Amino acid sequence: MKLSTETLTIVAIFLGIVAGVYLPELMLSLKWIGDLFLMLLKMLIVPLVFASVFVAIVSLGSGEALKNLGLKAFGYYFLTTALAVTTGLVVVNIVEPGSAHQMAVTAEVTKPAEHTFSSLLLSFVPSNIFASLSEGKIVQVLLFVIFFAIATLHLENTKRDSLKNFFDAVNDAMGKIAEWIIKLTPLGVFSLIGYVIAKEGVETLWELKSYVAAVLVALFIHAIIVLPAVASFIGRFNPLGYFKSVREAVLVAFSTASSSATLPVSIEVASTRGGVKKESAGFILPLGATVNMDGTALYEAIAVMFIANSYGVELGFSQQIVIFLTATFASIGAAGIPGAGLVMMTMILSAVGLPLEAIGLIAAVDRILDMFRTAINVWGDLLAAKVLNRFVY
Ligand code: ASP
Repeated sequence: MKLSTETLTIVAIFLGIVAGVYLPELMLSLKWIGDLFLMLLKMLIVPLVFASVFVAIVSLGSGEALKNLGLKAFGYYFLTTALAVTTGLVVVNIVEPGSAHQMAVTAEVTKPAEHTFSSLLLSFVPSNIFASLSEGKIVQVLLFVIFFAIATLHLENTKRDSLKNFFDAVNDAMGKIAEWIIKLTPLGVFSLIGYVIAKEGVETLWELKSYVAAVLVALFIHAIIVLPAVASFIGRFNPLGYFKSVREAVLVAFSTASSSATLPVSIEVASTRGGVKKESAGFILPLGATVNMDGTALYEAIAVMFIANSYGVELGFSQQIVIFLTATFASIGAAGIPGAGLVMMTMILSAVGLPLEAIGLIAAVDRILDMFRTAINVWGDLLAAKVLNRFVY
């Protein structure tokens, strides 16, 4: 019997968890396998984002069509992110984690650098595209490639077609490499998960149980109820069937805790098994991986409320509106890499006047929660691509 990569991946996740708990030394020494898998995925990100976004925009055929799709995408992203933060706030107000003042885990952290709106905005703009490409600054690459593709739409047909054909071929070749790397998923996730469990331990989760439970419950409500309901209502498709076709990307997101590293897998599975058109997968997924992070937004809201409760600070309705807005922006600004959400917390903490070092309270469990929120981030992106598929002609 030949098992599919997907089945093997699920088995590998369980084996990784078990090995991480019982054979921590071994899993620490096997870290290189996970690193290798991650490096291979990361190797593809820049050329793939460049080629897929370029081809998607040029295939849309006009700036008007792009504007239409772009506006719909942003509208949809905003709606789902707002719902995610709301779910987080509702759950955290019911569970009230941290109010019992059991600050068991207080990992020491140095005061982190603060993120402001202006610094965030400026960080989106490239001043040297080759530097952005070589440093893998995805938002900057996206901005450039959007300009480049729109400019290409203004060229005469022969020039436009030659650029399109070239990047189309690059895109297909990258897709081929992605297919090969995906075959290594079971090995990669086994090592990645085993390493995280061996290093972080699962005990810390228990020490912050009310906070961990609030985040997980809210993430599951959003992933299983809210998102599928909204997506199937707007996009008219069966979310469960779709999940079955694209779940491999969600599993990779879970194991890598990185939306960006998962991108090659998301594009591949969505455009093949998921039945998403190239224009939608190629444009919506890279965009989503950088700006649409429902899991992160939801987690930010719960984390800041937990911190406030632990400090005995009462955050009323108006403060929760501030959290709603800043959590939304923080999730847009967070990079698709492990731990980005924790760093962006500083933006929300300073907006509501809590000390920045308070992130030390939640740092101990962050990596494991990151796996769950990244899985939801990617699931949200995959649903967005399928929803917007409907609007690509
Ligand atoms: N790790 C998340 C992602 O890549 C971002 C975060 O830390 O919340 O989507």
